[in-house]
Amino acid sequence: MKILVTGGAGFIGSHVAEAAVEAGHDVMVVDDLSSGRAEHVPPNADFQPLDIRNRSAFTELALHFGPDAISHHAAQASVSVSVREPLLDADINVLGSLNVAEAALACGSRLVFASTGGALYGEVAEGEQAGEERPAEPLSPYACSKAAFEHYLRAFGKSAGLRYTILRYGNVYGPRQDPHGEAGVVAIFLRRLLRGEPIQVNARSLLGDEGCVRDYVYVRDSVRANLAAFEGGLDRRTINIATGVGTSTRELADRLHALAGSHSAVNDGPHRDGDLERSVLDPTVMIATLGEPTPLDRGLTATTEWFRSEVEQS
Ligand code: NAD
Repeated sequence: MKILVTGGAGFIGSHVAEAAVEAGHDVMVVDDLSSGRAEHVPPNADFQPLDIRNRSAFTELALHFGPDAISHHAAQASVSVSVREPLLDADINVLGSLNVAEAALACGSRLVFASTGGALYGEVAEGEQAGEERPAEPLSPYACSKAAFEHYLRAFGKSAGLRYTILRYGNVYGPRQDPHGEAGVVAIFLRRLLRGEPIQVNARSLLGDEGCVRDYVYVRDSVRANLAAFEGGLDRRTINIATGVGTSTRELADRLHALAGSHSAVNDGPHRDGDLERSVLDPTVMIATLGEPTPLDRGLTATTEWFRSEVEQS
């Protein structure tokens, strides 16, 4: 198959591009390198440095390549940037994404969209998991733009026959993660712990508490979902990509501290404005369609080893 990966120089997109190449697909990566890095693009993929907001150039490129599927990961992926610059966020995540949808329609390609379960559902009460049927309650411009594009996809599915899959990722972690994205805490902690620098657990509400609770999912599980979607088995589906396990920032810090064998101090920090207190997703649909998610310990161990070699080489 021919697979076009937007954002394929970024964290998750580069893993998708790499796995698609390994699966024998012909892969093109489109990325403007605003946060991604050219060295993350797999060597056997055709790299096209381009902003998805450039409608005519993107459509021309897609029509020329003729992808069977487009995996759409290019985005302004930071919640805090979206709060500061909602117009920029909408420009990339809504208008840029519409160019990608138009190109998918023009090419007759499947479109796999990297949406967010971590931000879309808003606060998830203690003891609950947010299932796909739960109404979106976006609390940031980033969550609004992701929710908006989901609606466009469903509308294009009905009106124009677009074959789409919406993947609502939890907090994705793994090798090559940059600290700036939607869920960079694993990368931030590991780089600092492995360099012997202190880390900070930001409060969930009060200084010194356990910190916010998140559903951390290994990047390999996002990749598996993309590969399955390319084959068509997930057409018109909306699926949480998650573990269903809530982990507090302090628990994460303790686990990574032990895995890294670090002597760094773990300090308490204040609550950050805009941070959801608790986000945990229901993975039932994912488990039924794609199998069990990677256990947190296994994913964190592999990620720690990757960051260890990165820190040693720097
Ligand atoms: P990332 O920043 O590493 O990757 C995004 C990539 O998109 C980067 O390589 C960047 O250069 C590129 N990009 C940004 N704007 C672009 C534009 N206008 N034109 C072309 N390329 C552009 O982020 P990531 O963590 O890998 O996230 C990938 C996708 O998954 C995003 O859509 C993000 O919203 C979504 N997502 C991520 C998480 C997570 O936990 N990391 C959770 C939910 C959803």
